[in-house]
Amino acid sequence: MWADLHIHTEYSCDSEAKIEEYVKQATAINLQMLCFTDHVDFNKNDYGYNHYNPEKFFEGYHRVKASCKNRIRLFAGIEFSEPHLYAEKLNQLSSDYPYDYIIGSIHWIGNLFPCQEVQNRFSAKEFYTLYWKEVLNTVKQGGFDALGHIDFPKRYYGEIYYTEAMMNEIFKYLLDKDMILEVNTSSLRKGNSRPMPGDELLKIYKANGGQYVTIGSDAHEVKDLGANIHIAKTLAEAFDLQEVVYESRKRIPVTY
Ligand SMILES: [Zn+2]
Ligand SMILES: [Zn+2]
Repeated sequence: MWADLHIHTEYSCDSEAKIEEYVKQATAINLQMLCFTDHVDFNKNDYGYNHYNPEKFFEGYHRVKASCKNRIRLFAGIEFSEPHLYAEKLNQLSSDYPYDYIIGSIHWIGNLFPCQEVQNRFSAKEFYTLYWKEVLNTVKQGGFDALGHIDFPKRYYGEIYYTEAMMNEIFKYLLDKDMILEVNTSSLRKGNSRPMPGDELLKIYKANGGQYVTIGSDAHEVKDLGANIHIAKTLAEAFDLQEVVYESRKRIPVTY
């Protein structure tokens, strides 16, 4: 069974891809489970600030799902940016709409995004130090199912900096709240040799009692659906982590 649980569609500010096109592609490449996770952003610096409309998403989603029968299993999700800063909005969305799965991601640290200009101003170590504090705050708050692309700055800096003590603390809060890690393969399309996270953080996650991961391509275009998810699957297996999907906010095995 193959699942891709991180997919952006035309309901995200930065994608024009249609749900039905993803479903067609899933059939062509033999993917059985898809979760659409459009961006929900409330940072005013973000291009997608306040762009997401759950009514429009669910209208499109239910239309395709009805025509899809049980051929391919579709799930509804969101990728919610900086959950700890907009906890009320997240609570509202997750109680008002029947999401299966919520990814919590840190994209911004205040007005800093790891673009080229920020990379010129901050060394990788400096930026990651700020970034991990924000990740810690978000796992302390919770309210989501999986932490998205945990070493996100790697996609831009091309390298990772962390301390084991900080990672232990992050994983302790993450697991205490029954949340898990996502393995996101988009870094592989940006020239990185490993997904997010790679071996070093998965090892610490496992040592802290982590048992499960979700796997997602972070596709914004149909051609990227399922890209390199076999690499993430092999990596998860190497650390004896079970791949899961979420339905109605509950974990189910991918073999389900
Ligand atoms: Zn993201
Ligand atoms: Zn994403």
